[in-house]
Amino acid sequence: MSETKVVKVLKNSRKHWVGDGFYVSTLWSPGTSLYDYTNPFLLLDFAAPMNFTPTSKRRGVGVHPHRGFETVTFAMKGEVEHRDSSGGGGVIYPGGVQWMTAASGVVHDEFHSEDFSKKGGEFSMVQLWVNLPAELKMSEPKYQGVEDSSFPRVNEGSHKVKVIAGEYESTEGPCSTHSPINIFEVSFSENGTFQYICSDSMTTIALIIDGEVNISNQNYGPEQGLALSKDGDRFEITGVAGSKLLILSGEPIDEPVASYGPFVMNTKEELVQAVEDFNASRMGNL
Ligand code: MN
Repeated sequence: MSETKVVKVLKNSRKHWVGDGFYVSTLWSPGTSLYDYTNPFLLLDFAAPMNFTPTSKRRGVGVHPHRGFETVTFAMKGEVEHRDSSGGGGVIYPGGVQWMTAASGVVHDEFHSEDFSKKGGEFSMVQLWVNLPAELKMSEPKYQGVEDSSFPRVNEGSHKVKVIAGEYESTEGPCSTHSPINIFEVSFSENGTFQYICSDSMTTIALIIDGEVNISNQNYGPEQGLALSKDGDRFEITGVAGSKLLILSGEPIDEPVASYGPFVMNTKEELVQAVEDFNASRMGNL
């Protein structure tokens, strides 16, 4: 049995504000060579834990559009509130996931919840952009909000595996996907080892959320995404108690990617059309 290796460490020490609520590191984004390691996952923004003072005005990012892909938001600490023009929306609490399929286009806003804003405290989240196959880019928008308690867990002793999408050891996650994708969160309650067989047809990334993990005698910490090789068949990751990671696994979508800000399509012409449609309010209103 050959061992799966880390082929690329995805990290970015430069941070930037998204609106005034999300101070993020963009670990990878479309239109760069990193996409070879992350396809079908277009972008990942990591907002590490940060303390926010109480305020009567919600922090976040106002109305903006998306077309051609999905935004998946994982609330880690604090509460995220969202509304979109397809009627989707709600508050997600720690451990909750908001899966927004923008597809043909929505406008939405993303804020700290009103309750959290008033109380203040630690806030942390991850947002992942998932590409859609060309044939689904102009399909109907959809919204899935799933709270922490609704995800099934597979208990493996030193750690639990929370199944978000796809499946793990025959346990299915509640979030539906538009191409083959498995997403789960591994939380270590004590020091231990998590083993996973990476499919050679899937991209697999281990994103470290908390704590410290070890792969092939190398230590890794939070805010790092580890792209794993497809030629090995066994992935072993040792975590110290309290460590948490997200495993993102997806079948690459081998189609051209054309991206411009919040739009990810297959051609430049489709991007021009997206800008026109947004300016003409054809992605809806809030
Ligand atoms: Mn957005």
